[in-house]
Amino acid sequence: MNLVLLGPPGAGKGTQAARLAEQYQIPKISTGEILREVAQKPDALGVRVGEYINHGLMVPDDIILELVWRQLEQGAAQAGFVLDGFPRTMAQAEALDRFLSRRSNTDSPGVETLDAVLDLEVDEDELIRRLSGRRVCSKCGASYHLVSRPPREDQRCDRDGAVLEQRKDDQPEAIRERLKLYHQRTEPVLDYYRAKGLLHQVEGDREMGQVARQIEQILEQRSQSSGAGSRVSVETSHGDTDQTESRPPGTDH
Ligand code: AMP
Repeated sequence: MNLVLLGPPGAGKGTQAARLAEQYQIPKISTGEILREVAQKPDALGVRVGEYINHGLMVPDDIILELVWRQLEQGAAQAGFVLDGFPRTMAQAEALDRFLSRRSNTDSPGVETLDAVLDLEVDEDELIRRLSGRRVCSKCGASYHLVSRPPREDQRCDRDGAVLEQRKDDQPEAIRERLKLYHQRTEPVLDYYRAKGLLHQVEGDREMGQVARQIEQILEQRSQSSGAGSRVSVETSHGDTDQTESRPPGTDH
C-alpha cells in the first residue's frame, strides 16, 4: 500500500498517517519530522534546515529528496509506505514518479504505483485555531491543544511529564507563510494527482475518528474497484508510460 497524505499545515496529516501506518504495517515517512530531527543537529545542514522551518518556508527540493530517498527505498522494500507532507512541490512529485517508475523495473511487485493521494481539507480559520493552540512535548513530540486537547497537568506531557512547547513555525507570522506557500506550491500538486485520478478529498475538519473512517471507506472502495484487474496506462510527467492497475476517476468533489 503506497499512500500520500497532503493537506495544509494543521490539517491532521500526522495523526492520520500514524493510524494508517499502524493499520497497514507500513512505515510512515514524515518529511516534517525528518527535518525537525535534522534541525536539532548543530552542523551546517541542521542550522540551514532550522532556518527554513522556523520561518515557515519550504526546505529546498534537493535537501528534501536527499533525505527522503533512503527511507523510500526502505519502505518500498517492505509492504509500501505512507508519505506525510511529501511531495509538496511539483519537482518533488515528479521526482517521486521517477522513483516509482524505476521501482517498477525491479523484481518487487506491488510497490511501483501510488494507491491513493488523500487531501485533508480544513477551513482556514480552523487551521489557524489548531496551529496557534498546538503545543508539543519537548521530549517525545506528542501533540496537544490548549483548548481542545489540553494536558492533564498544565504545560506538561501526559506521557513523560516533559515540558510542552510551541513550535516556532506555529507562531502567527510563520503560519501565514506556510499557508501562503501551501496555496502557491502544493495546490498544483493536488491538481496533478487529480488529473491522474488518484486524488481523494477528505473532510479534515471533522473529529479524528470520523476522518479516519472516511479514509477507510475511500481505500476500501479503491481496492474493490481495482480488484477488477484491468490495466490502463498512466503517463508520467517525464514522458514515460507506466502500466498501472485500472482505477476509477478520483472521488474528489
Ligand atoms: P510539517 O510538520 O509537515 O508541517 O512540516 C514542517 C515544516 O517542514 C514545513 O513548514 C516546511 O518548512 C518543512 N517541510 C516539511 N515537508 C516538506 C517538503 N516536502 N518540502 C519542503 N519543506 C518541507
